[in-house]
Amino acid sequence: MNLSEQNSGTIIRALSGFYDVDTGSGIIRCRARGKLRKLGITPLVGDQAIFQPSGDSGYLQEILPRRNSFIRPAVANVDVLVMMGCQVNPVTEPFLIDRVAAIAAAQGVDTLLLLTKCDLDPAEELYAIYQQAGIPVIRTSTKTGQGIEAVREMLRGKLAAFTGNSGVGKSTMLNALYPEANMETGEVSDKLGRGRHTTRHVELFTLPDGTRIMDTPGFSSFDTDMMDLGTADSLARAFPEFRPYLGKCRFDDCSHVKEQGCAVLEALEQGKIGPTRHASYVRLYEKIKEYKEWEHKKS
Ligand code: ZN
Repeated sequence: MNLSEQNSGTIIRALSGFYDVDTGSGIIRCRARGKLRKLGITPLVGDQAIFQPSGDSGYLQEILPRRNSFIRPAVANVDVLVMMGCQVNPVTEPFLIDRVAAIAAAQGVDTLLLLTKCDLDPAEELYAIYQQAGIPVIRTSTKTGQGIEAVREMLRGKLAAFTGNSGVGKSTMLNALYPEANMETGEVSDKLGRGRHTTRHVELFTLPDGTRIMDTPGFSSFDTDMMDLGTADSLARAFPEFRPYLGKCRFDDCSHVKEQGCAVLEALEQGKIGPTRHASYVRLYEKIKEYKEWEHKKS
């Protein structure tokens, strides 16, 4: 075994310049080397890192290539992005789900939608929208236990990041899914309230069955992370149900917003694409365009 194999692990926590690395046999608190900063690399939770031990702590030397990474929240190497929504107290706006699903798709990350509180409302509308959109969706209830085992089964052995709008019952769901993780961060960040980003941090928990989970508050704050969405051209591909129609529009540079001879708009008219999904697409398309124009002016 060479030195780098020995001194490597996963970053599970990042707090004010310190990075906790789980080596599989313990957790080492590390600082980043100036070299990483010079290369413009900010270590992220989920990163595979090589470190140099120094007493009880260490120095991060290298971050291994990432399979994917996000800006807000700052995490890397996610296998599944688990979004939560519900149709009661409060009703989740489909746009919030669509936006997160598009960000995940742009990064090549799988998504899973959990509909919570299904004992109070079976969430028929949301279920139908995402079934049709080709996004995996499971109905759940922490009261009756509905769907809980199915979710655990789907996430087994993967690195799953959880996100959901306020009030969707994320902490309750995480504790129902993984009581053995004894997670406190969700509760703490809920108490701190929204908008206090500095005190909210991402943490990675490893369960006995190898599943790793992240509670990621950042995905619910939008406007600031448009860069995660990619370009206006790539956005349509982030909507799985649009894909059969792409390349079939009259104009090669069709934006699928209001053009004549647009195959996506035709599918929308025929009910093959859901109206809320297309509305979310248009909303994101306009936002990306605005953002790019603003970026352009800045440089
Ligand atoms: Zn089109």
